Amino acid sequence: MSQTNKHVLITGAAGFLGSHLCDRFIAEGYAVIGMDNFITGSFDNLKHLENHPNFSFIEHDICEHINIEGELDYILHFASPASPIDYLKIPIQTLKVGSLGTHNCLGLALAKKATMLIASTSEVYGDPLVHPQTEDYYGNVNAVGPRGVYDEAKRFQEAITMAYHTFHKVPVRIARIFNTYGPRMRLNDGRVIPAFIGQALRGEDLTVFGDGSQTRSFCYINDQVEGIYRLLHSNYSQPINIGNPSEVSIRDFADEIIELTGTDQKVVYKELPVNDPLQRRPDITLAKKILKWEPKTDRAYGLEQTLQYFKSLPKEKWYKAEHKTFINYIKK
Ligand code: UDP
Repeated sequence: MSQTNKHVLITGAAGFLGSHLCDRFIAEGYAVIGMDNFITGSFDNLKHLENHPNFSFIEHDICEHINIEGELDYILHFASPASPIDYLKIPIQTLKVGSLGTHNCLGLALAKKATMLIASTSEVYGDPLVHPQTEDYYGNVNAVGPRGVYDEAKRFQEAITMAYHTFHKVPVRIARIFNTYGPRMRLNDGRVIPAFIGQALRGEDLTVFGDGSQTRSFCYINDQVEGIYRLLHSNYSQPINIGNPSEVSIRDFADEIIELTGTDQKVVYKELPVNDPLQRRPDITLAKKILKWEPKTDRAYGLEQTLQYFKSLPKEKWYKAEHKTFINYIKK
């Protein structure tokens, strides 16, 4: 069914998640306005939508007042640096987009009577003492540690979003997004999947931080987008985990990438970054029950798609990708 009478604003539209959401809403017939300031996003991710009649784009920093003419039914707030390297490079912007940026989006949602969905994160659980993480766990975050700027911005984001819901009755949705991957990630964003694949492509050793026993649970982009789409169309206003519960240690994951890419390189060990969460796996009981959603893509397939995407980039991009690790950046 065509939804062209519905208008969606997507902040962070030129980013990894944001651009895939633009595609999904366009495919569903919505009129999509993308917004980004390109601080970490790239117009390459939206180029294919440039001339689409239902797509428009506004270059804007949402920490400044947002002005949209006409109707708006939904706001999907996905603007934020999202990789640990980025939070260190641009800590103030990270805090501002999660706080001031969210405040501006909520004000807009109130004015337009729109539903607001925010991209929250598993980082609200910090280095979790409850495993797997359920939505009722309050978390274990170091506010003044290197990740604090992101974690606390996202925790504030949840708090102000809930306040607009209870005080102003703005309809809200809060997706707690766990590690998500796929095509359009930045090869140099420092996160483990582009880092390992980039290293394999460039013929470098794979850098495992710590002893590699820390775990993550990786969700393929298509599954993530489906979860978010369903959440938006639900009437559930409490936080909900969206992620893939298939958990793997970073050490084993490095072996998966070595096998996938067929590289002859080996694993080298580096210092574990401060406050790097030791375990992470979403409990998705709520998402299964409320959204009738669970991830469908296995890691082997998702990683193959991701590898093909990185390989399709011009070769200079593999080499230009300055692979600054988290630790290197702290030391600079
Ligand atoms: N990691 C690693 N080598 C790298 C990049 C990351 O061992 O080159 C580890 C990192 O220390 C963390 C995990 O991989 O334990 C996931 O890191 P990422 O930056 O992807 O996201 P996070 O889940 O920590 O936000």
